[in-house]
Amino acid sequence: MTTIGITTTVPIEVLMAAGYKPVDLNNVFVSDPDPERLVNIAEKAGFPLNCCAWIKGLYGVAMEQGIENVLCVTTGDCSNTIMLMEVFRLRGLNVIPFAFPDSPSVQDMQRTLESLARTLGTTLEAAEKVRQAFEKARQLARELDDLTWKQGVVSGWENHYWLVSASDFIGDHREYEAQLSQLLDESRGRKPYPDDMLRLAYLGVPSVFARDLYRYLESCGARVVFNEIQRQFAMPNPESSLAQQYTSYTYPYSIFDRLEDILPQLRLRRVDGVIHYVQAFCHRGIGDIIFRHAIDLPILTLEGNADFMLTHHLRTRLEAFIDMLRRRAPISAHPKTKGAGSF
Ligand code: SF4
Repeated sequence: MTTIGITTTVPIEVLMAAGYKPVDLNNVFVSDPDPERLVNIAEKAGFPLNCCAWIKGLYGVAMEQGIENVLCVTTGDCSNTIMLMEVFRLRGLNVIPFAFPDSPSVQDMQRTLESLARTLGTTLEAAEKVRQAFEKARQLARELDDLTWKQGVVSGWENHYWLVSASDFIGDHREYEAQLSQLLDESRGRKPYPDDMLRLAYLGVPSVFARDLYRYLESCGARVVFNEIQRQFAMPNPESSLAQQYTSYTYPYSIFDRLEDILPQLRLRRVDGVIHYVQAFCHRGIGDIIFRHAIDLPILTLEGNADFMLTHHLRTRLEAFIDMLRRRAPISAHPKTKGAGSF
């Protein structure tokens, strides 16, 4: 199969049906033992200092790994990708643009997927067969999520890692299934996290310091029971067609569409507080205004740039936030006031 880089979660079923092996450049970037090196490749090529580290990382990975084909999302992800796509073209990569519909509509998504299939020389019927082949892997990802918030035997980091990895199924969905099945079997025998740990939600794009963040939160007595976008990357709702699956996937659409998923999940998962991660120089940070208006829980807005570990400053802010949540206890006894406890 020919490798194709992807810049966010896209309908990989169509790519696979066309004979491509999708590789999520974000996952390669952030799991690299030395991600600064990849950012440096981009900065040496002229990417500005005030450009998001993820964009620079995607460029660095593509250059270093000699990626020849890239599917770039032009609507429904990031405006910076449009210029990244132009630079990829300049470097001689074969760039395939892909635009999610402006709003969630099964009919529009059907047309979009048919068009992508035609561009890649395959059919939606073939892609539907790939969707069916992925069903087990997607079901395991849902079980992992349940074991996180219902049974309390899967950590926030494990939840993050396996959900985010569903964007390309670590390059081989059978391997993903095997490794995840093993983790689920092992986790079912674990002692659950204590009931008195605070329950957090993580909203926003995955952070550049994810591993450190989840571990640090747990060391402070709080754990993440809802990873919003990561869960979306794994397609949390079983659907009967690709068009329906990528329509109920909220990430590409309006923040209000995302809130229709977020608000019930916050209640269902009995979340005590919300961390909204924003990446430096990212337009999505502006959405913080809307989250603070719509969510009746304490929110900590956490910004990351190109530090791949938590800084002292961020640790202090996290500690203070967790302290405040503890002092607010018992959470259920408090009337939830809009904006209360905003940090
Ligand atoms: S964090 Fe924001 S600016 Fe960076 S790639 Fe993602 S959407 Fe784009």
